[in-house]
Amino acid sequence: MAIMITDECINCGACEPECPNNAIYEGGAEWTYADGTSLKGLITTLDGEMVQADENFEPKDMDVYYIVPDKCTECVGFHDEPQCAAVCPVDCCVDDPEYRESEDELLAKKDFMHL
Ligand code: SF4
Ligand code: SF4
Repeated sequence: MAIMITDECINCGACEPECPNNAIYEGGAEWTYADGTSLKGLITTLDGEMVQADENFEPKDMDVYYIVPDKCTECVGFHDEPQCAAVCPVDCCVDDPEYRESEDELLAKKDFMHL
């Protein structure tokens, strides 16, 4: 499953630079597939949706840092454990029960973003 940030977040920003997929954004910031990945131009997402890699999407949270589930691989393919959870001082990076994925699916997501 992807990792999610709860409302306990104190907006310290420590997690953002640790994410190998640039899946973490500050509250209120728009996100793109292209940020921190090798995706460019018109792409087909793993859900079969066609979008521009640099298209801006609405923030998923306006008040605290948030994680884009479509970009979070739980750090699979890069690290042994989720780096955001490892650095978070208030332990608010937790498993997101709405996004359950196998190791193979997480690796496929990593390969999709980093050619
Ligand atoms: S688990 Fe890893 S890939 Fe997912 S948001 Fe945290 S640092 Fe990024
Ligand atoms: S490290 Fe934790 S408290 Fe700091 S911004 Fe990230 S989720 Fe929020």
